[in-house]
Amino acid sequence: MPRFEPRGAAALTDSSVALMTELNLILLGPPGAGKGTQATRLVDDFKVAYVATGDILRAAVDQGTDLGRQAKEFMAAGELVPDEVIIGVILERIEEPDCADGFLLDGFPRNIEQADALDDALGKRDRVLSGALLIDVPDEEVVKRISGRRLCQKAGHVYNIFSNKPKHDDMCDIDGSRLIQREDDSEETVRNRLRVYNEMTAPLEGFYDERGILKRFDGTRTETEVHDHIRATIATLRLEDEL
Ligand code: AMP
Repeated sequence: MPRFEPRGAAALTDSSVALMTELNLILLGPPGAGKGTQATRLVDDFKVAYVATGDILRAAVDQGTDLGRQAKEFMAAGELVPDEVIIGVILERIEEPDCADGFLLDGFPRNIEQADALDDALGKRDRVLSGALLIDVPDEEVVKRISGRRLCQKAGHVYNIFSNKPKHDDMCDIDGSRLIQREDDSEETVRNRLRVYNEMTAPLEGFYDERGILKRFDGTRTETEVHDHIRATIATLRLEDEL
């Protein structure tokens, strides 16, 4: 039995019912916008599979797999890993059973070629994207958030020298260990990642806006405010689908 009475056309096929109840989302926004934090909450709210390309690639680098070897240098420089390396990996990932009722993609697509490849792959399976969620944060705020980040060496407690200072310079309030900056958090790498985002990824905002599925969120609000806003928007998307 379908979960709802379809509007309009009397008889919808089984596949179109499935198509309407899947929740397939992508997260857009510059590095440091808080995509990972929001994703963790949304996956919990909506029980969709979370697919973060950065996490997949970092794990591959740590494990020294072929994928990791091919990705490593590009990642260290803040450049995009080539499309031929990443697209196949992600398209295969969203075919896995845990993505059957929906997925939340974080970090993919990163350019128009990847967005086209995703559209094609979903189209072939009668699947559609439900929404593209853009968390907006101005460039200078991104630089402060990331280049100001410091982690304690012992347990990874997180500080920010601009917005969440430790009581003593370079020392963790909790365990007294030394605070360090991750290599890819340096201001130079952050500025490069931002340049890459603005050149390659920001055009996706227009791409998804034209398709009527872009939803914008103000990433300078508190984590909870951003989360509440996104959650309400997704709930509305679902409701519209089910009417
Ligand atoms: P992230 O954690 O999403 O910021 O990703 C970290 C790094 O992984 C990026 O700076 C890129 O080098 C690489 N990366 C992640 N996703 C992609 C993608 N869709 N296409 C190309 N490179 C990617």
